[in-house]
Amino acid sequence: MSEVLVLNRHFIPVNFTTWRRAIVLLYLDRANVVDEEYRLYNFNEWFELSQEINDHPAGFVYTPRFKIAIPEIIVLKFYDKIQFEQPKLTRKNIYEHYGYKCCYCGKKFDSTQLNIDHIIPRSRGGKTEWGNIVTSCISCNLKKGNRTPQEAKMKLVIPPYKPSRRTKLSLVLNTNFKLHSSWQKFVDNLYWNTEVEQ
Ligand SMILES: [Zn+2]
Repeated sequence: MSEVLVLNRHFIPVNFTTWRRAIVLLYLDRANVVDEEYRLYNFNEWFELSQEINDHPAGFVYTPRFKIAIPEIIVLKFYDKIQFEQPKLTRKNIYEHYGYKCCYCGKKFDSTQLNIDHIIPRSRGGKTEWGNIVTSCISCNLKKGNRTPQEAKMKLVIPPYKPSRRTKLSLVLNTNFKLHSSWQKFVDNLYWNTEVEQ
C-alpha cells in the first residue's frame, strides 16, 4: 500500500500521493508527517524514529545504509487549495445526473430508450459541455432533429444544469475505497468541513 493521505495546513484531507512524493515533500521541508495523535515529525525526526521502530503499518523503504518508514499521512506546510472537479461527461454520469428522465417531456425511461442531446446541435456550434447536454427520449429526439428547442418549439421541462463539483478526494471516497484506519479521523474531518452541496 503506497498511497499517502495529504492534509492541508488545516488538517483537511486534500489529496492522495505516492510514498515517493511524500518523502520528497518531507525531505524538502514542505510537509510534515502526522500521526493519529496529531504529533508532527519533520524529516530528521521521522528519519530517527524510523531507525528505532521495526513495525510500521505502511512498511519501510530500505537503502543499504538506512531505512525510512513510509508515512501514512502528511500535512502540507504551504497553502494548498482544495481542488474541485466536475464529474466527467460520460453517458452514465449524464443519465444519472438527469435521473434517467427525458429533459423535454420529463418522463422516466430505461437507459436504452434515452439519447444524449446537444441542446444547440453540434453542427451549429453547440459545445459538448454540461450546460449544453441533456437527456432525451427517442421520440423527443426525433421531433427535435437538428434544431434548437426554440426552432422545434419544444420546451425543456428539465433545464440543463451542471452537477456540483466534488473534491478529488470525495470522488475517490465514493467508490468503496479502502481506508487506512489512521486516515479515518481526518476523513471524518473532511466530512464535517466540506461545504454542503446546494
Ligand atoms: Zn421525451
